[in-house]
Amino acid sequence: MLKILIRPSTELYIGRNLLTTDRLLEFCGKLRTILIADVAIKDLYAVDLARKIHAELLTIPTGEKAKSRETEQNLIDELFKMGCGRDTLLIALGGGVTTDLVGFVASVYMRGVPLILIPTTLLAIVDAAIGGKTAIDTPYGKNLIGTIYSPKAIFADLDTLRTLPEKEWLNGFAEILKMGLIYDSSIWQKKGVKNDELILKAVQGKIAIVEQDPTELGFRRILNFGHTIGHAIEAISQYEMPHGEAVALGCVLEAHLSMHLGYLSERDFEQILGSFSSFPLRLPKNCTRQNLFNAMVYDKKNASGKVRFVLIDRIGHAISFEGQYCRPVSEKELKATFEWMKNN
Ligand code: ADP
Ligand code: ZN
Repeated sequence: MLKILIRPSTELYIGRNLLTTDRLLEFCGKLRTILIADVAIKDLYAVDLARKIHAELLTIPTGEKAKSRETEQNLIDELFKMGCGRDTLLIALGGGVTTDLVGFVASVYMRGVPLILIPTTLLAIVDAAIGGKTAIDTPYGKNLIGTIYSPKAIFADLDTLRTLPEKEWLNGFAEILKMGLIYDSSIWQKKGVKNDELILKAVQGKIAIVEQDPTELGFRRILNFGHTIGHAIEAISQYEMPHGEAVALGCVLEAHLSMHLGYLSERDFEQILGSFSSFPLRLPKNCTRQNLFNAMVYDKKNASGKVRFVLIDRIGHAISFEGQYCRPVSEKELKATFEWMKNN
């Protein structure tokens, strides 16, 4: 087990067999503890864990649709009904849907109660659980409502990944490759996704980035690489396309855009394209250049009504653009990238 302090105040434990050590129990202390998991995780891990740490168990529906205002309200009402006070500890056990949603609830319930995250998907371990962002979705787009709220601790137990379905591995893998593109080219040299060393590198990269820019004033935007197009594609597919598939496609297209605008070499681009070969890389059928651009209107990086992109100038390095780490791209500049995709 490795213990890493994430500034200012989160302890991250990463390793194996973590849910059976007493470390977690120590965090619960004398607090009333509510464990929250989706219905699939309930039987896999939550019932056992709740018994072990003397927690009360609440469940939420499974899947992205659960990350809604409705689930959030139900959960909060449930906490009121149970008479939970400010000294209640909430523990989120599950994928990014659960950690984002429960993180949000913990940050607003009575203006904030203590929170612990136990991510159980690769995506949540390398991405969602780190950095203190919480979120729920709205019909206008994903993650458009949220807070920044640090958990007391994160327990990333890689043993929980043993039961993770194959397609969920790909979701996390897309974020790991993204980290390799924007920050740490050594990720690029590691092979195979079921590799603890690779996972740890991605986690360390994410920590380093969020510590440098906790409130997203600039540098942290690089994490958004692949997501300007990725989120738009997800929205156009009406969230039928998994996040990782959309991000993989987004990374390839935003790398293409980086090349088209003269920042990235053709050689690097070809290598990037090859590295995403385990993903389908197909646009949804109903995707046109017009609706793709329209869907980007809700991107949180936008400023003065302009769509802004994170771009890279080599594998492992995002461009600073005077500390903004993104630059406006017009619909016209995007044309070549879209045409390339349509023809490939
Ligand atoms: P993410 O947002 O991290 O991709 P979700 O929270 O949507 O993931 O979870 C994806 C699905 O995988 C859910 O149905 C969830 O119940 C299931 N799941 C999460 N972690 C595990 C695990 N360790 N083993 C098996 N299934 C899991
Ligand atoms: Zn993502």
